[in-house]
Amino acid sequence: MYMPTLEIDLKKLTENARVEKEMLAAHGIEVMAVNKVFDGCIETAQAVLDGGINVIAESRTYNLKKIRATGCTTCLLRSPSLSEIEDVVRYADISLNSEPVVMQALSDEAQRQGKIHQVLLMIDMGDLREGIWFAHYEQILATVKLIEELPGLALYGLGTNFNCYGTVLPTVKNGEDFLEIAKRIETDSGVKIEHLSAGNCTSYHLLDKGIWPAGLNHLRIGGLHEFGIEYVDMKYLDAFHHSGKDVGKACSDMYMLHAEIIELNSKPTVPVGELGVDAFLQPKSFTDHGTRKRALLAFGRQDVPAENCVPQDDAISVLGQTSDHTLVDIEDSQQPLKVGDIVSFELDYTGLLMACQTRGVQRRFKY
Ligand SMILES: *Cc1c(COP(=O)(O)O)cnc(C)c1O
Repeated sequence: MYMPTLEIDLKKLTENARVEKEMLAAHGIEVMAVNKVFDGCIETAQAVLDGGINVIAESRTYNLKKIRATGCTTCLLRSPSLSEIEDVVRYADISLNSEPVVMQALSDEAQRQGKIHQVLLMIDMGDLREGIWFAHYEQILATVKLIEELPGLALYGLGTNFNCYGTVLPTVKNGEDFLEIAKRIETDSGVKIEHLSAGNCTSYHLLDKGIWPAGLNHLRIGGLHEFGIEYVDMKYLDAFHHSGKDVGKACSDMYMLHAEIIELNSKPTVPVGELGVDAFLQPKSFTDHGTRKRALLAFGRQDVPAENCVPQDDAISVLGQTSDHTLVDIEDSQQPLKVGDIVSFELDYTGLLMACQTRGVQRRFKY
């Protein structure tokens, strides 16, 4: 091993996906699995598919091309760019949309490819990212009618999203308002809306509290089966596999970063000399804890930032990081660590995202 490794537990991912699918199905909710944190990883897509979730979403079109090999139905989460329409129709069965000019282009291209492309029309219920503004009812109605008219498109459903830009929580109120818009649209357009896609993993708190607005029948979820965490109240859900660490750290042992010790020594805890700024131009202050045993690890901030990973050994703590190095205090660890040994970390969502993106981390799977 000459690179830090990211070890992903596919068995637990499959189990969590199965639990999630069954839990939601019991409430009449269909789920689409979001694979975007793994950056088009085919093994993780296969794992959730094995758990029984058949539709898999990515935010980038080039990643859909990869995961299609599993035979899943694919969905593009980020609204298509006008410049990528041909590939969107080729690799996505469904996409999230809100712009008529894009939908027109999707329809034209779908006809050229002899396909029907499915559109999840996004309504912005307040979070201020994608979607037609909820108060602009006539615009929503006109867009539904447009989708019905365009020969290359079919309406997959209406969708909304929370907790992304505006930090807006999914509530009974905005859920019922969304449902109300959908019912009005059905009446005024005569179009049956099959899927009412109410949000992402944060929407799960409504189910957990038993206040789910009946009628909302679809979710797009990653974080729930990936971490077993209910993110609104920040708690572990015992039905899922999750980490036993402090839930505030939001990490999971399903994603372990293993890094090699490249130097081991005892040094003072306060630098010696006149102090300026660190590698990231930040001034720092140090508290004197005397001389401590520490290890230099072969990964850095450009791989996984220290605030997004937690040492598996509770007796080890992170002292700091530069681009390519992580310094850990191992004085209190019971492990007989030496140069060449491994220090392991659990990752949170951002840490996992970074570890999946960097060329400096090698992926490995636990089946
Ligand atoms: C990322 C994303 C999701 C899934 O989010 P999780 O937090 O992983 O559940 C759902 N919908 C959209 C539009 C997204 O961008």
